[in-house]
Amino acid sequence: MNLVGRQDRLLIGGLAVAVIVVFARPIERYGLSLAREAERSSGLALVPALLILTAVFLFHQQGKRQEARARAAVAEAAAKQMGARAAEMERLVNLGQALARSLDLETIRGVVLQHLPKLAGSEDAWILLRVNGHWQALVGPARDTRREIERAREHVADHALAGGSAPATEGVAGEGHFCLRLAAGGDIVGVLGVPESDGPIPEPRQRVLATAGALLGISLRNAQLFHEIRESSLRDGLTGCYNRTHALEVIDTELRRARRSQTPVSLIMFDLDHFKDINDRYGHLCGDAVLAGVGVKMRDVTRGSDLKCRYGGEEFLVLLPETPLEGAKRVADSLRRELADMRITWKDESLSITASFGVSVALPAEVDGQALIARADAALYRAKDQGRNCVRLSIETAVT
Ligand code: GH3
Ligand code: MG
Ligand code: MG
Repeated sequence: MNLVGRQDRLLIGGLAVAVIVVFARPIERYGLSLAREAERSSGLALVPALLILTAVFLFHQQGKRQEARARAAVAEAAAKQMGARAAEMERLVNLGQALARSLDLETIRGVVLQHLPKLAGSEDAWILLRVNGHWQALVGPARDTRREIERAREHVADHALAGGSAPATEGVAGEGHFCLRLAAGGDIVGVLGVPESDGPIPEPRQRVLATAGALLGISLRNAQLFHEIRESSLRDGLTGCYNRTHALEVIDTELRRARRSQTPVSLIMFDLDHFKDINDRYGHLCGDAVLAGVGVKMRDVTRGSDLKCRYGGEEFLVLLPETPLEGAKRVADSLRRELADMRITWKDESLSITASFGVSVALPAEVDGQALIARADAALYRAKDQGRNCVRLSIETAVT
């Protein structure tokens, strides 16, 4: 600790000068005459030696002061660098913690939007995800949503993807962007890009981005796996339709939504005709193949927003949001025709099936999913009674 400050040194200097001024004459009279006396008696050159010593001493002190200043500057720069490193580490830890809590894409998007600009040192950093061989934007500069900008970014991402054999954690420069491939479990799940508008990205920032990219890759893969596991727990493996439990939940949710928005919701229920005969004649494996074919047809004929459910063995539901009874009847008719036209090849034989359909629509403000299903079921039984391979509407709604 420096006990003597700058102001103190000034004061001490001033006092020293004052003392010298006060005692200048005696010093000159006695000091110098003493030195000269000693020189005369000893034959030594004391005064020049004293002068040289004083000069060397002052020079040495000056050098030491400069050295100390340089050392202080280096220490200050190192402390600054350490501070910056610590801040970067903290940002990365915050990113990691936030990503660890994110199990779906929307949450990851929010986390990335919050943390990426600071980590990348740019508001224009972007991320494209690789989904089924296509690019899908996770985040990107909001102002650059024009198609040609998107295409340009996809081109950069293609370049990064082709950037090939280098380890995924290494950045790929080129095309005016610094890119990082986001990898997890050996798969590339996306590309992170930072425009190099102000020149190449400095090495320390590249390292930070590489760490952020590694965290993101793992998080994206986790979200993907979580989605797959959740989906498979909600779906029937044979037909790809939702299972009954999930369907009942969704029907209730949709009925509430429809009541709020005052839009119609319809329900189709269908059951394969004489399906037992198929099992008896061709075996259960063939029956399973038919059921899988029905699942495919349902996906082909209905909209992505329609809920497709395997309600029981060979009974299915299709919930059609924002669809009145007439619209649902048209969908049921198309599905009935498509199923009747479907040919299933089993061993050397080609077989076909038919199905009977019941259609109901939610009554105004109705939120009871079971009642909606019961009306479709009653209509389906009439279809069975009236010869099968046909569509019947629920009586309540047909009358209103
Ligand atoms: P109906 O026209 O009156 O509906 O006649 P059906 O033979 O289709 O009706 P039923 O309810 O008597 O028979 C349904 C059959 O569906 C019985 C069962 O063996 C078969 N089934 C149910 N689930 C599966 C399945 O997962 N795989 C196979 N292969 N068959 C199934
Ligand atoms: Mg049946
Ligand atoms: Mg049945």
